[in-house]
Amino acid sequence: MSTKLSITDLPDSEYKGKRVFVRVDFNVPIKDGNISEDYRIRQAIPTIDYLIEKGAKVIVASHLGRPKGRNIPGFSLKPVAERLNEILDIEVNFPGEVFSDKVRNAANNLNEGEVMLLENLRFHKEETDNDEEFAENLASLADIYVNDAFGTCHRAHASTYGMAKYFDKRLAGFVISKELEFLGALLQNPDRPYLVIVGGAKIKDKINALKNLLETADKVLIGGCVAYTFLAAKGVKVGKSLVEKEMIPWAKEALKNYSDKIELPIDHVVADSVENSRVMMVVDREIPEDLMGFDIGPKTVSNFNSHIKGNGTVFWNGPMGLFEMNDFSNGTSSIARSVALATWRGATTVVGGGDSTSALRRAEVLISEIKHVSTGGGASLEFLGGDELPGISVLSDK
Ligand code: ADP
Ligand code: MG
Repeated sequence: MSTKLSITDLPDSEYKGKRVFVRVDFNVPIKDGNISEDYRIRQAIPTIDYLIEKGAKVIVASHLGRPKGRNIPGFSLKPVAERLNEILDIEVNFPGEVFSDKVRNAANNLNEGEVMLLENLRFHKEETDNDEEFAENLASLADIYVNDAFGTCHRAHASTYGMAKYFDKRLAGFVISKELEFLGALLQNPDRPYLVIVGGAKIKDKINALKNLLETADKVLIGGCVAYTFLAAKGVKVGKSLVEKEMIPWAKEALKNYSDKIELPIDHVVADSVENSRVMMVVDREIPEDLMGFDIGPKTVSNFNSHIKGNGTVFWNGPMGLFEMNDFSNGTSSIARSVALATWRGATTVVGGGDSTSALRRAEVLISEIKHVSTGGGASLEFLGGDELPGISVLSDK
């Protein structure tokens, strides 16, 4: 269980009339001023609602995209403030700046239960630089610090790290508490049997997480590009498939140490190139010299599915193929649906990774059909790699 102090650990009376700074992740896709997907906004609502209900004065802050320290109107949080208005059904104060006398006055003039949203933190490069003065200025706006932006916890920025030390009370919001509960359980005491499904683009990006997962899991199903490096390490011909040559020695070692845990694809959907997927077919274990693997084949799907049961824990990170293209999405969608089914049957299912989360959507699996969808991406993988995330380490211990 999480050892970090959560917003529910503080007595209600502590919040009344206090200014509470809440770092959230409102990094939503915005095009021409319209928010195309507001999941991240809705995800932060329970924490904001909780603080409103306790009579706090809520100061919400987030980054949006990568404006790189410049005030670029397309990266303004104004559309987010409007959406927040609609969802909370209260007037959200949006001063349109991050820090100024205007912002300070607005913060000091908030009434109990009122909410204000600061402008995009990354309009100031001091945010990502973790500038000391900037951090102190942000901290001076509030009495209590709450972080609920798990996706940026692996970065030591002013709002996720630098400003925290100015507060006695540094609390985890509901999003972070849930991430710590589920990801923490994966590291420490997963319900067994513990099945891990990994895929995606590169071993190198997730090497530490992979090491831990291989060690802890009872079974590891490997698909995506990751599988070709493992197959190559076994001496299986993989044609022109994407192989990380420099990772082959590590993969060989992993295959030796965990031979009875690892399951690799036994067939593949291949094509001669992404552009020319007309030359598409299914082959068995070996991929002909001039072809590339873009998805796991039907026999592999059925083998993998036979391991995804309705008990214990299932953790999935990384698509099984180039799922963004219809021709190569079957393996990933099929695994996504099996993981959802495992939830219904009683397994603790956890999905992590930005592309894996998109893959769920593509397979029409609802977020509610998975026990925990980690919104962290890079942060989840670093956490599973056993690293202490800066944004988590600064939170108060229980
Ligand atoms: P996540 O974001 O869930 O951690 P990754 O970023 O590791 O996942 O990998 C996702 C990417 O890997 C996707 O863009 C997907 O198309 C790609 N991918 C997976 N398998 C293949 C493959 N066989 N060939 C080409 N790309 C692949
Ligand atoms: Mg990704």
